[in-house]
Amino acid sequence: MIEVKSKNECCGCGACISVCNHGAISWTSDSEGFFYPQVDKNKCIDCKLCDKVCPFINQYSTKINVSLAYFGKCKYEQIQINSASGGLFPVIAKAILSKQGFVFGASFNMNWQVEHVCISDENELWRLLRSKYVQSDNRRSYYLVKEKLSTGKQVLYTGTPCQCLSLRKYLKRDYNNLLIVDVVCHGVPSPMVWNKYLIEQSQKMNERVEAICDIKFKYKDEIKYHWMHPGFVLRWDSGNELKCYGNETSYENGFLSNLFVRPSCHKCKVRRLSSGSDLTIGDYWGCDKLYPEQIDRRGVSVLFGNTDKGRKFIQTVSDDVILKPIKMEEATIYNPRILYSSKPHKRRKEFYRNMSTYELDELVPHLLRITKGDRLVNSMMWGMRIVKNILRKGLQKL
Ligand SMILES: Cc1cc2nc3c(=O)[nH]c(=O)nc-3n(C[C@H](O)[C@H](O)[C@H](O)COP(=O)(O)OP(=O)(O)OC[C@H]3O[C@@H](n4cnc5c(N)ncnc54)[C@H](O)[C@@H]3O)c2cc1C
Ligand code: SF4
Ligand code: SF4
Ligand code: SF4
Repeated sequence: MIEVKSKNECCGCGACISVCNHGAISWTSDSEGFFYPQVDKNKCIDCKLCDKVCPFINQYSTKINVSLAYFGKCKYEQIQINSASGGLFPVIAKAILSKQGFVFGASFNMNWQVEHVCISDENELWRLLRSKYVQSDNRRSYYLVKEKLSTGKQVLYTGTPCQCLSLRKYLKRDYNNLLIVDVVCHGVPSPMVWNKYLIEQSQKMNERVEAICDIKFKYKDEIKYHWMHPGFVLRWDSGNELKCYGNETSYENGFLSNLFVRPSCHKCKVRRLSSGSDLTIGDYWGCDKLYPEQIDRRGVSVLFGNTDKGRKFIQTVSDDVILKPIKMEEATIYNPRILYSSKPHKRRKEFYRNMSTYELDELVPHLLRITKGDRLVNSMMWGMRIVKNILRKGLQKL
């Protein structure tokens, strides 16, 4: 029976709940706003199915998968603009939908929380576009994916690497009609903090959360907001809106500085392309340094073909994308999250201690302010790095 001994050991994929046929597992939020399974020992028959499906308890590979790497984008400018990176996900999804298939991905729900949904109509594809920086509730997908696979139609499942690995474990075997695509994953922020942010921003605008009608992370237009400096949009029914650069919001700053990212993401066991996905997509960070002539303000993606099935699928969409093969090192060198987890912010505990007292717009900038001590430590670290490099180069010459 599943027992979460340390919060680092549960990514919240929800596979254990889905696999339990005895209704013995419930889903409860902790004080940081992350969901964890809780077993009712009176209902549990100790069948161990939940342990077997868990991507964090079971053995995992720490070797980097031998994948083919590419960078590129889809050929259609508007699709690129409406996506977080180079618009590869919508191209893959359209190919599946055009064959009357099913596509699973993360969508906002009525309360502006994020959950996995299944679509079968291209008119609904907009719901899955763009990154949503909130943990997606994936519990209902597992059974539904299996059900759709049994129709014999093509199924595309997309999500974070841990969600993709737990789906693989849930299904127990590969299916010819299933394509799994994961995104490179920094980590996921707390749904509770996200909710707090929406309440506070609505209050500031004299609005109600219920009146929110649109939210966009990674917003791009062709003028001010672009892939390397994207915007954030929050809109209410009245026409009121908050539109600014993402890095001007306390929410995105707090997330990317790791003040309220899920503990398991700092010890993620599904990095190094080890989720068992057929394809992995992300931002091609480093394009400006390695291929500056290929920079596109609408977005550039990195793509990994992890399996034969994935690599073959790339051929089927080749008319809709522009891709260039690159070496693995070129694909990963400026995108640390493919290989390594981030560290929690050193003031993370302080954040949660003070969260109920202060607004995010006050608390986050206060905690992220760089003190004189931090500056001193940073410059010492830089100094040490420079000395190390000089010594290394000197030794190489000997
Ligand atoms: C939480 C998060 C962190 C990320 N961190 C990095 C990073 O550190 N480095 C990097 O290179 N790329 C990262 N990405 C991936 C990147 O932002 C793009 O999502 C990816 O490149 C696909 O972009 P696209 O243009 O092809 O299509 P898009 O239209 O942007 O594709 C959206 C895809 O993302 C999925 N998705 C969106 N939100 C979620 C969510 N909350 N949970 C699960 N799946 C979701 C959708 O299901 C869909 O498959 C992250 C994405 C998310 C969601
Ligand atoms: S051991 Fe079996 S019955 Fe018990 S919680 Fe896990 S899946 Fe449910
Ligand atoms: S990682 Fe997933 S399967 Fe494992 S305990 Fe957590 S929610 Fe359950
Ligand atoms: S960082 Fe790892 S554990 Fe966290 S959501 Fe992403 S894949 Fe899952």
